[in-house]
Amino acid sequence: MDILKNIRVVLVEPIFGGNIGSVCRAINNNGITDLAIVAPRPETDWEDARKLACQAKEQFEAIKTFETLADAVADCTVVAGTSARTGFYRDTAYSPKEFAPIGLESAKDHKIALVFGREDKGLFNEELALCTHIIQIPSDALYTSLNLSHAVYVCCYEMYCAAGIFVPSEEKAEEASSDLRERMFEVWREMMVQTEFTHKQKLEHMMMGLRRIFTRGKLTVPDVKILMGLAKQSIWVADQWNKEKTANEHE
Ligand code: SAH
Repeated sequence: MDILKNIRVVLVEPIFGGNIGSVCRAINNNGITDLAIVAPRPETDWEDARKLACQAKEQFEAIKTFETLADAVADCTVVAGTSARTGFYRDTAYSPKEFAPIGLESAKDHKIALVFGREDKGLFNEELALCTHIIQIPSDALYTSLNLSHAVYVCCYEMYCAAGIFVPSEEKAEEASSDLRERMFEVWREMMVQTEFTHKQKLEHMMMGLRRIFTRGKLTVPDVKILMGLAKQSIWVADQWNKEKTANEHE
């Protein structure tokens, strides 16, 4: 079973529809699809929620509702509550990054929950008491409390990264061999002479500079071909220029 499917995001009495919609999007961005709301409020603007869910409309339709937090997490082993505040038993809080491997370990075989509080009052102590772990997102003392959907994003993002599902795109072109690189440097050396870019005495010094520049990153075969083509073209232009100069001298 897909490990991320075992992660349930639980929002306790959220107020703003915009936040609920943004949470739908945030969890889907991170491969999570189980969203529960505890005690939905009658005043919530559900049209706003739908709008901010954007392309996560299916997620929006799939929101489960529960009367109490205990009901929402009844089938979960690990229950991680999130809080910006200190005190109570928050002093042993984990950062989202620290919590991620712990949560995933349980999510291999069981449902786990990430619980988020109300925009105005957070989670109550009796709700935190149901939690096996507390997550505190590092934030500056200037303003420690994050927007609800941002807090959801950060926690889900760490779970997603720790799950190792994302495969970053990588350079597909083959890396240039020493032989190819050296052939390129040869053409550049000739180009520097033909274009009279540098005096003969300074040529080797210049070549070392070029080597340092071109080997700072990773040169691929197409990169080397571009650089070689540029130097060859410059040699050709310099050649034309020299021929014209000689012809003019004979006039
Ligand atoms: N005024 C509330 C803040 C609520 S913010 C309070 O003082 O608790 C809404 C929810 O976002 C919080 O209940 C929590 O679930 C989450 N959240 C916001 N900032 C957070 C942080 N720095 N660390 C962990 N969770 C945070």
